[in-house]
Amino acid sequence: MTTPRISPFPAATVLGYPRIGRRRELKRALEAYWDGRATADELRRTGRELRRDAWTRLAELGLDRPPSNTFSAYDHVLDTAVMLGAVPRRYRDAAPGEVYFAMARGTGDVAPLRMTKWFDTNYHYIVPEIGPDTVFTADPGKPVAELREARDLGVATRPVLVGPVTFLLLAEGMDVPLDRLDDVLGAYETVLTALAAEGADWVQLDEPALAADRTEAELDAVRHAYRRLGALTGRPGLFVATYFGGIGPALPVLAGTPVEAIGLDLVRGDDHLGDLPEALAGKTVVAGVVSGRDVWRTDADTALATLAGLRERAAQVSVSTSCSLLHVPYDLDAETDLSPELVRRLAFADQKVAEVVDLAARLAVLPSGAVPAVPRVTAPPAATPAPAPAVRTPYETRAAAQARHLRLPPLPTTTIGSFPQTGELRAARAELTAGRLDEAAYDERVRAEIEQVVRLQERLGLDVLVHGEPERNDMVQYFAEHLDGFAVTRHGWVQSYGSRCTRPPILHGDVRRPAPITVRWASYADSLTPKPVKGMLTGPVTIVAWSFVRRDIPLRDVTMQVAEAVREEVRDLEQAGISIIQVDEPALRELLPLRTADQRKYLTWAVESYRHATSSAADHTQIHTHLCYSQADQILTAIEALDADVTTIESARSAGRILPTLRTFPRALGPGVYDIHSPRVPTSAEIEKSLRAILDVLPADRVWSNPDCGLKTRTYPQVEEALTNLVTATHHLRDAI
Ligand code: GLN
Ligand code: ZN
Repeated sequence: MTTPRISPFPAATVLGYPRIGRRRELKRALEAYWDGRATADELRRTGRELRRDAWTRLAELGLDRPPSNTFSAYDHVLDTAVMLGAVPRRYRDAAPGEVYFAMARGTGDVAPLRMTKWFDTNYHYIVPEIGPDTVFTADPGKPVAELREARDLGVATRPVLVGPVTFLLLAEGMDVPLDRLDDVLGAYETVLTALAAEGADWVQLDEPALAADRTEAELDAVRHAYRRLGALTGRPGLFVATYFGGIGPALPVLAGTPVEAIGLDLVRGDDHLGDLPEALAGKTVVAGVVSGRDVWRTDADTALATLAGLRERAAQVSVSTSCSLLHVPYDLDAETDLSPELVRRLAFADQKVAEVVDLAARLAVLPSGAVPAVPRVTAPPAATPAPAPAVRTPYETRAAAQARHLRLPPLPTTTIGSFPQTGELRAARAELTAGRLDEAAYDERVRAEIEQVVRLQERLGLDVLVHGEPERNDMVQYFAEHLDGFAVTRHGWVQSYGSRCTRPPILHGDVRRPAPITVRWASYADSLTPKPVKGMLTGPVTIVAWSFVRRDIPLRDVTMQVAEAVREEVRDLEQAGISIIQVDEPALRELLPLRTADQRKYLTWAVESYRHATSSAADHTQIHTHLCYSQADQILTAIEALDADVTTIESARSAGRILPTLRTFPRALGPGVYDIHSPRVPTSAEIEKSLRAILDVLPADRVWSNPDCGLKTRTYPQVEEALTNLVTATHHLRDAI
């Protein structure tokens, strides 16, 4: 085997960096381009500027040879599929230059590729589709162009690619996607050769799939892949980055291949450090001691002790982040409203880059053999509320009480909560924040909006109404703004998918509810109509999943504190006369640990916290829950254990797979009857067809008729037409059953 001559790996690095732009420039550019307000050239220029800013910033912060090809116009997994030629035939007819966005967003009648969550993060990637007939043809264009572009700016970089094993494991369309490994490896060889020819001395191959349970066959694939790529002549140095947890049995496998550097997540995965195999002796270990997943400052002494210990066993230790910084906001210095005590505890992307640089400098001057002692900190006692008895009376008793109290028709119609957020409403909120509109005037606008939404629903003939959530900027941030223990940022945007970003709140202290949050809006809506109005809350698991959460007490305890606040809100809604209360848990699946062995424990406390939040409800109060993107079929037992009276789930896009699994579900269900994510309005015949499919598997007296998810992102004309059709279809079937 030829051992390439490779320059030493940089002493400090990061696995990736945010790409949406400090002011969300990429979001604006993409949306302008999609709307026809900007040209492809203008979009490309924004991309170039963002890459230039990122590389210059990283260099300024002291990082040598930063990563490249971490930019993406939509998603890095989609970039990889395109780089490998894995473009399904149905997209190939799109105009040249449009194929990429056609795969991401659909075009004409062709639906986009599926999108799903990137491991246990709130980032969504585009699921590659491959089949036995996919012809893998390498196009190294993008990574080569970025390498060149950076070099022209005077910055040598390390191109980053999704690794071949992770790519195949994420793809769908084949029972055993790894059957295509050798074909894919051929394409990677071409890309690696092209990058080496262009002067790349290192290439980073991301293999986060190794942080989940892997079969022997999959580990064999890892061995084979990196032996084969390692044997390539004239290749760059290979750095296999793993993250989102320890890689356990995959570590000796990787260490037994000729790759020169291995990246380990030592924030989440330090449990495997004890048994680092001897083989690491010849490797560079890229030690992820600075968390790329949260916004907390790194404890430098602990990190340094880890690094010093590792240095005894590896050929070289480089200091790094635990994963890409894609998951955190750019810069803490942009935040001017946070309290100084909180700021002292925080680090965003730029601060984390400074941390790795600083740790590398400290490690360099630490005499070899010296392993600094770590001061033991004892965690403060958790302020967990005493668990209330989390059991309601048996479902049959409750269901009877609710039927008497609510008197709903069969196949009741309802929506998931939000109605379109109009431009005026967003503008009013911005004016309120800027101090140009006073609280009373803003409240007036919200009330006016609620009244319109209620009247619309009455006109449409829906059975259970909602207030439409006009007062909420976001289903988590709104609650965070009204609970103690949270802070919200001004610019802390994090990419969720494509042009979409979220601004996760920071949960930094004990959570308490100083006053009722939603009661006045729900009551107002309720006062306008004789129809039942459903109160709308976000569940404890979702609130913590979509926030940056303190790490000094267990996540379970934090979630229980949030659950207590939700419980108080449920009680107050009930006291205000609201008889249907929906507690949304769309993120229940997202926090599921990657390792099967850890899943049961998580699901147990997640369910416990939900039940704590909802179990005080009286028998005649109907508790609803809603789950979206939850891959409901994978956690069905836990969903059942939530013990909600009515569960609405997203299923319109995957009804064929999900519906059969719901056959034995013991309580009422509202599998969405149409997909709200598409601007296309379904006809009543289409909705009737979905409903019939649902009635084929579920008893009619337990079925609800509702859309897939909230209507927030749609327009009023779309919503009116779609809901008209939903009511027509439901009434038609109601007469038939
Ligand atoms: N009640 C929320 C809404 O309708 C639920 C959103 C969600 O499931 N993500 O907007
Ligand atoms: Zn939803």
